Amino acid sequence: MRTSAAVRRPGALCAALATAVLGASVTVAPSAHATPPIDTCQVQENPSWDGWTDHGELTRELKAVERRSDGRVRVDKAGTTAEGRTMWRARAGQGKKVVLVTSAIHGNERTGTEALLEILDHLGTSDDPETRALLRRITFVAMPMVNPDGGELNRRMNVLPWDRVTDRFPQLAGAPRAWYHAEEGDGIAEPGFDLNRDFNPDLDYVPRAADLPGEQTDPGFFLSPESRAIRDTYVQLRQEKGHVETYVDLHHMGPCDRLTSGPQKGKLISMAIDYPPLGVRDGAKYKKQWPALDQDKSRRYALAAAKGIHGEYGMRQAESAIGRYVHPDEREYPGQGRSAFALNGTGTVLFEVRGQSDDLGEQHKEVFTATVRTGVESIMKGVATGSADRLDGEEFFTLPTYGWDEKQR
Ligand SMILES: [Zn+2]
Repeated sequence: MRTSAAVRRPGALCAALATAVLGASVTVAPSAHATPPIDTCQVQENPSWDGWTDHGELTRELKAVERRSDGRVRVDKAGTTAEGRTMWRARAGQGKKVVLVTSAIHGNERTGTEALLEILDHLGTSDDPETRALLRRITFVAMPMVNPDGGELNRRMNVLPWDRVTDRFPQLAGAPRAWYHAEEGDGIAEPGFDLNRDFNPDLDYVPRAADLPGEQTDPGFFLSPESRAIRDTYVQLRQEKGHVETYVDLHHMGPCDRLTSGPQKGKLISMAIDYPPLGVRDGAKYKKQWPALDQDKSRRYALAAAKGIHGEYGMRQAESAIGRYVHPDEREYPGQGRSAFALNGTGTVLFEVRGQSDDLGEQHKEVFTATVRTGVESIMKGVATGSADRLDGEEFFTLPTYGWDEKQR
């Protein structure tokens, strides 16, 4: 289903808050298929997204990667979406430290899927000593497309009517709908969830009518099969290895035309990174119930990504225009997966690539994929060698913002 960019865009923003704070301004290219230069922010009237890997292609690609890897990469099924699509999971390495990465939980945010396919292929086929050492030290688990139902519609939400939720959880009959369920999304009249609000730090949480509808500052309810499959993967890895060291969640942010400050002042930001948004004073109110929360660790891992990207591309390339994601002190989303897992002691990092996948067209896929890939690989290396743990988490705050109103932590 195709809707106009003008209808889709407001709902498509990952950074809804950023848009509210900063105001969205975009330039619509006169031609439907004009190629926007990397250093501008033109978007397309009728954008193409056919060039991004879809679910069928992902299925074939993962099987091909598994085959090429000769046993080093193993692919299995993590779950089934609301519409019956397979949620694939790929794994490489036997190390003690688990690096879990998810992508496209917002279906129209696609760069991470490409980056994860490249990483898996590299891990599966490279014989250099560094890769071999890496695979001895970490267990890398990638879920490259966790919301393929949304992806097939090129939209953010999954596809799930509320009455199917109450069929699954009869105790919710008559209760108000969860605040993050909607009858339509991105101009498409199909009900569903913003899956990245459906997580709860209590990984055994069972939905209760009294908790609905909830609000942004409440944990989510695990109402969708997609979020439950991610939760189950996390729990299984924790049971197997004792701990999930890091979790990285790959997104796109709505705003396309934001400029960095700092050493790259005036450049369009390519990717913003973040630690979990858990409210004032670094989530202090959660500490009593969730003592394993370590916001500084999440910042160290985010910093490891930024430093790795700068090390690879220097400070002048489009690939390396990295900034901090919108994170005023009071920003609080305990229902996001990265927040729920951070409260369980995992260091979690958010990647937000500039614009939406279709806004920038497919022409810049390679640049942004390289940024995401290098960032994830830098975290893997930093975790494997322990170098990420030796970083100063405070240095994260020296990364440039892109104009949002920064407050004291
Ligand atoms: Zn997103």
